[in-house]
Amino acid sequence: MKRLRDLARAAGDAALQLTLPLFDQIAPVPVRAPASRPVPPATTEGGTPAAHTPGISRRLTRLGGHPVEYELRRSRRRTIGFCVDDSGLRVTAPRWVGIAEIDSALSAKEAWILRKLVEWREHAGRRERLAVRWEDGGTVAFLGRTLTMRIDAGARGVAVDNDILRIGLPAQADAGQLKNAVQAWMQTQARAVFRERLPIYSERLGAAPTQLRLSSARTRWGSCAPDGSIRLNWRLVHFPIEIIDYVVVHELAHLKEMNHGPDFWATVQSLLPEFDTARQQLKQFPDDLTLS
Ligand SMILES: [Zn+2]
Repeated sequence: MKRLRDLARAAGDAALQLTLPLFDQIAPVPVRAPASRPVPPATTEGGTPAAHTPGISRRLTRLGGHPVEYELRRSRRRTIGFCVDDSGLRVTAPRWVGIAEIDSALSAKEAWILRKLVEWREHAGRRERLAVRWEDGGTVAFLGRTLTMRIDAGARGVAVDNDILRIGLPAQADAGQLKNAVQAWMQTQARAVFRERLPIYSERLGAAPTQLRLSSARTRWGSCAPDGSIRLNWRLVHFPIEIIDYVVVHELAHLKEMNHGPDFWATVQSLLPEFDTARQQLKQFPDDLTLS
């Protein structure tokens, strides 16, 4: 597990994009047509008015035995709608629908709502864990190792010194300066590592990319274009060399097979017989990025 945690920290600076859609919605629940009963104003619903916005209140219900807070919005719509995102559960309902009816609609969608809430909570936790503290003493991953950043006004440039990443910056350097210095260094290292690994496998394959470009795409570790150029994400340099090699081999194999069919995987295997271990590790870790 430690290894996985280190890997997770590896992409810490990546501010990885949301894996989940911006919000999750489920089919709304139809409600009865408005009765001739009086429309209760939002404030008589017993919820806490949310930031004094008319028609919006915060309420508490129980789903699957768990207390679940949600935001209730009254609207002109004719159905009860549900939406879960990183701020929790939102319910939109016509003004004439009573709380009991809303709660029973919530119960009917209980499994979906609870699953989505858990997914979003896990997602938020993951983002939290991945965050790098850009300060003296913070850690970053480099080639699978965890390095502790040390700001050293006496040092020049950035250099690895055992488990220390020594950064030549003034003592009062802020988080932005530290991040820029470390990321620029990581990119230089990434290019050097790729330039060293690519020829090894190119030779085995008998084909070389027309061009290597570094990418900082939020969604891809690597890609291979029909013109034979390969892009590799500089953030791969956080990972152990076996994972970098797998991505290098994967993209090189696309020079022969522009697909993910059996011939493609046979090519990958011929270049890197143990590729599947690295592939599984890469899959497990950053669910935010993919290969193409
Ligand atoms: Zn691919």
